[in-house]
Amino acid sequence: EGLRGTPAPAAEAETPGLPRIEANVNLLSEAARVRENGAQGVGLYRSEMLFLARRTLPTEEEQVEIYRKLVETLRGRPVTIRTFDLRPDKLGHGAAATQSAAQKLDWRLVLESPLLQRLFKEQVRAIFRAGTAGPVRLLVPLVTRASLLDFAVAIAEEARRELLAEGLPFDGKVPLGMMVEAAAVAPMVEEWASRVDFVALGTNDLIASAMGTVREDPVGAQEDDLLHPGLVRMIGEMIAAAHRAGRTVSVCGEMASHPEGAVVLAALGVDSLSLAVDRVQAVRQVLRRRDPKALGAIRGGLLEAKSVEQVRRLIA
Ligand code: PEP
Ligand code: MG
Repeated sequence: EGLRGTPAPAAEAETPGLPRIEANVNLLSEAARVRENGAQGVGLYRSEMLFLARRTLPTEEEQVEIYRKLVETLRGRPVTIRTFDLRPDKLGHGAAATQSAAQKLDWRLVLESPLLQRLFKEQVRAIFRAGTAGPVRLLVPLVTRASLLDFAVAIAEEARRELLAEGLPFDGKVPLGMMVEAAAVAPMVEEWASRVDFVALGTNDLIASAMGTVREDPVGAQEDDLLHPGLVRMIGEMIAAAHRAGRTVSVCGEMASHPEGAVVLAALGVDSLSLAVDRVQAVRQVLRRRDPKALGAIRGGLLEAKSVEQVRRLIA
């Protein structure tokens, strides 16, 4: 039974051995389609789109309201809210004033910026407070350094202490996840994963980082990059490393919505894929045609593949 009294359509049953399918949401208006398309939750809500749409940053109270609406729309299916992934390449296409604001609001500078630190804490508080409306997960973008991870973990703790002291209702058990989006993090995954509750691979940024390409300037980028044997091995090893730490791994970049990419990720043992709302049904169809056992059987081969062609032959 949904919160508004109408029965919720059943989430598509999970097939054992295949990843859960969740959806990426950029705008609140897309949220209803997550359920309609049978996705099992929101694997990535790009909250920075709030800033893009309004050109101002929402207050904590405004965020609580927005996140609650999102959570209520999902009627019990989990919602992963990523904190503002503010970067000039995402925000810099507006007027000069916005561009200069965007320079200051670059998430990568958070450890040097009291303003960004304040925004992060407000947002974490808002996410915890929205957790009383339904299952919520907190996801931190572009975790590139141990010091950044320390910071995020400490702020989450501080936010819980503050909310408790203030007597505001909140969910103290919201899981904290980190996004891996830079190649240098690959060898650190096992250690870092043990400090959070879940891991999400942002393959859009990760592939650019690993291939020496730039997202908004795709010189040298090829569609086949997501089947690069080095990338496949790197991702496979990260998934295994997170699993050794006892943590689940999702992939929320475009690779998850590509038919071959989704099959490779399923074979590598990823726990969930999060894709654009409109791609959910197609990717589910692609995976349903696969036998989970046969997929698991090619994992070893994928980890040792030497070429894109070999990767393709294995998943064919
Ligand atoms: C990614 O980098 O793969 C990702 C999901 O985040 P975004 O596309 O918002 O950078
Ligand atoms: Mg990213």
